[in-house]
Amino acid sequence: MMVGTRTILVVDDTVTNLDILVELLKDYDVIEAAGGVEALEIVAEEEIDLILLDIMMPVMDGYAVCRKLKEIEESKDIPIIFITARSDEDAIEKAYDAGGVDYVTKPFKPKELLARVKIQLEHQEMIEKLEFLASHDPMTGIYNRRKFFELANRKFAESSKDLYVAMMDIDRFKKINDTYGHPTGDRVIKAVTRVVSENIDEGSVFGRLGGEEFAVVCRHSSRDNVVERLELIREKIEQLETRSAGGELIRCTISEGVAKADETTGNLDELLQRADEMLYKAKGSGRNKAIFRI
Ligand SMILES: [Mg+2]
Repeated sequence: MMVGTRTILVVDDTVTNLDILVELLKDYDVIEAAGGVEALEIVAEEEIDLILLDIMMPVMDGYAVCRKLKEIEESKDIPIIFITARSDEDAIEKAYDAGGVDYVTKPFKPKELLARVKIQLEHQEMIEKLEFLASHDPMTGIYNRRKFFELANRKFAESSKDLYVAMMDIDRFKKINDTYGHPTGDRVIKAVTRVVSENIDEGSVFGRLGGEEFAVVCRHSSRDNVVERLELIREKIEQLETRSAGGELIRCTISEGVAKADETTGNLDELLQRADEMLYKAKGSGRNKAIFRI
């Protein structure tokens, strides 16, 4: 999320109110919704960073919209500020119970509302930064082990149909570290992960499991395509030229072990285990190759 490109959704059944908010929030990207149903549709389609939500609306009131958004994984973390003419304590309590982070009464003071908007966006940005740090490997920028397992398990839980796991390991990596030092070893790891990232489909889960070991989980309808893709990655890494800290040219290769989920696969760990066995075979039979489990 970049500063200046934040998108705020304003929801109100009164057109004049929407106009006032759009004018006030002119420094942000603003999307308007005239009702709860429309708001839910927009949230499902767009990346929304903050919602300003009216309470009294026909069909679906603000509380119901808020509760609904909090139930949905994709929208549960979007902060919601209620803006309403109701100022009785019960209404305020209900707004927080529904999941709102703040409450502003109409008529609102423009500068106060802007300040509250700013605080929520900053708060949200900080949370996103922390979440990124907690879920990514700092050196390579790919998912760390914890996040890899979280996302891969989620993929498996959705469906094991057409699901593949590829385990990857840089061949004789210890030798690179011993010969050229760890900073150079790090360069090699970064270069390798870049090649993999650039050659996997969007939606694949790619993570660093530890040291020089990585895994990709992807869904694909064609086994041939998966074979082809992993072979391409292996070749590109074989051709990769990395420089050591001292300027020497370094080449490296990777081994890959691949398994596809079938009716006997009970969980992700089993699938990883099968891929790992294939990786072990690839290592034991000359390295620089991908072995698919039949
Ligand atoms: Mg209203």
